[in-house]
Amino acid sequence: MVQVLYNHNSLRREKLLGGETEANIITVHHLDINLLQLRRFLKTGGPMATFKILQYPDPKLRRKGHHVTEIDARISKIIDDMFETHYSTKNCAALAATQLDMPDPPHITVIDFSDQKNSPLCLVNGEIIASAGEYELEEGCMSIAGAYEKVKRAEKITVSAMDKHGKPFTFEADGFMAKCVQHELDHLDGKVFLDHLSALKRGRIDKRITKMLRQSARST
Ligand SMILES: [Zn+2]
Repeated sequence: MVQVLYNHNSLRREKLLGGETEANIITVHHLDINLLQLRRFLKTGGPMATFKILQYPDPKLRRKGHHVTEIDARISKIIDDMFETHYSTKNCAALAATQLDMPDPPHITVIDFSDQKNSPLCLVNGEIIASAGEYELEEGCMSIAGAYEKVKRAEKITVSAMDKHGKPFTFEADGFMAKCVQHELDHLDGKVFLDHLSALKRGRIDKRITKMLRQSARST
């Protein structure tokens, strides 16, 4: 049974007293109810967790996503938690498992840049099987704060992947979706978008980030 409680805290789950398990309880602010999160919770019947998003230049961002052979309970939970992380992060279009602080990240990316956040797309073992044209769009990354640069990408791509249930599918993408998929598949190959920049631009950004990190280390 799922019990929905209201109190004055923002959306969060709590362990309740009296032997209730965390899986049975969700606590929601009565004025700030996040229906999407609530709906997802009710659908899965269990609590979801969020991952910490790794920040460049964390060496873990260089890990490669391991090939998923079976959608078992662990992989399903990772997918749910990745969407949870995605939806609870402001201005997030997509996330790859390798940019999240989890051990042995699988080859999974979650994407949803719809205004209503109601068009989730999960790619398991996503692979670009055909591409055409060239396109340059500005990119940013949840793992690289404050850096936005134009990156050359294929204009149109055909992607092959499995969905969250393990069903294979292919689709064609262009524009923002094509950019997004290429950016995320790079992550799953241990790359970040800065790797596509000229040495000059890259050096400038690296220097700024190093300075920023030094300042924040000093202030903590
Ligand atoms: Zn990124």
